[in-house]
Amino acid sequence: MSRTASPVAGDDPRRRIPRTDALLALDEVERAKQRLGEERVRDVVRDMQSRARAGAIAPEEVEGAVIAALESVHACAFTPVLNATGVIVHTNLGRAPLSPQAINALEAAAGYVDVEFDLATGLRGKRGVSTREALLKACPAAQDALAVNNGAAALSLIATALAGPGSGKRREIVLSRGEMIEIGAGFRLTELIESTGPVIHEVGTTNRTHLADYEKALGENTAALLKIHASNYVIKGFTSAVGIAELADLAHAHDLPLIVDIGSGLFSPEPLLPDEPTLTEALEQGADLVLASGDKLVGGPQAGLILGKKEWVERVARHPLARAMRADKLLLAALEATVGGPTPPVLEALHTDPDALKARTERLADVVSERTNEPCEVVPHDGRVGGGGGAEVPIPGWALSVPERLATELRSLEQPVVATTRDGVCLVDLRCIPESEDDSLASAIAALLTR
Ligand SMILES: *Cc1c(COP(=O)(O)O)cnc(C)c1O
Repeated sequence: MSRTASPVAGDDPRRRIPRTDALLALDEVERAKQRLGEERVRDVVRDMQSRARAGAIAPEEVEGAVIAALESVHACAFTPVLNATGVIVHTNLGRAPLSPQAINALEAAAGYVDVEFDLATGLRGKRGVSTREALLKACPAAQDALAVNNGAAALSLIATALAGPGSGKRREIVLSRGEMIEIGAGFRLTELIESTGPVIHEVGTTNRTHLADYEKALGENTAALLKIHASNYVIKGFTSAVGIAELADLAHAHDLPLIVDIGSGLFSPEPLLPDEPTLTEALEQGADLVLASGDKLVGGPQAGLILGKKEWVERVARHPLARAMRADKLLLAALEATVGGPTPPVLEALHTDPDALKARTERLADVVSERTNEPCEVVPHDGRVGGGGGAEVPIPGWALSVPERLATELRSLEQPVVATTRDGVCLVDLRCIPESEDDSLASAIAALLTR
């Protein structure tokens, strides 16, 4: 062996760092290569070798460190986290966690599938038929249904199809000033609608809009009436708004369609969220087109659901822009599995029994204080639906109260835990965390507290 190849002195421990090909030949590493591809695995190997060269780990630890690191590497850069915020539909954390059924459907749809193919005839089939059927079964009040990429796409597609270029002079969509919403990241629904050509005809005021305001706005330029559910704020005090039934009567008296954006997309009423509209109610009250997100309270993948009267859904589906917002096979598969499946995780989290949550949190507190010899407090902590709906509605619950510094440390764990801070403490809310994680969470918190 050539000494000149290595600048390292003979007794230098760095000589004992395992070679790349030896590490790549390990069984565990071979298996990781199947899952992640050679490049990502080589990156991990190089990283651990250089840590050893820098003296951060001993040469003897390299093998174990590579294997351990590979276990937590994923084929994409996303890091799965535990949501300890108590916010159920957390947009920054990917909104709805999928049900096991939806995950299974994603796997089934990952390869070649008959998404647009008729196996009986061997000819081209209609796309997404089974997803449409699942939506119609979940919402019998709808005559037709279409899934697109997300709620914003649904709104923009509907507006463009009904009032965009090609609609002649009928370019106006009538909307109350109380419903001009900015959703996350500075996006305004009114700007979204107008971006393809329709014009918003604002009526009423921020706090009060009356039927007469809508009546006055209608004319030969009107294409449609729009009602948007204020999903992330409430207007309280001296207020008044026009309900869907009244608006539908007005729209139909003028041969116009009523579009209703309900935001969150509940199929049936939710006793814990009495002010949250449902797709079914909106249609029963006379809306012609109702739209909602698939990944808020529906609990499925990111999707935009469009349900309603056949003639309007067909008109929307036929518009050229529909092709640009077409749902992919993964969305269609996961949505069908969610809509046709058991209660999704978001609704499970919403319905968590406060007493059961308290008992679970107390068990966590007991384990932590037993290991740290420090008392650990369980405090009342309201959960929230999140940006996805139920604005301002507290969902009674509990949280473990730990020192504030833990918020940062919990986020840097191998499996990061995202918790909130309030009044100088860090609150760990178990509402959105699978119970199977409790033991490892208790160990992690105890380890951080005794560090
Ligand atoms: C969330 C929301 C949207 C946007 O839906 P995405 O699925 O996030 O695109 C549109 N309208 C309302 C009322 C919403 O709450």
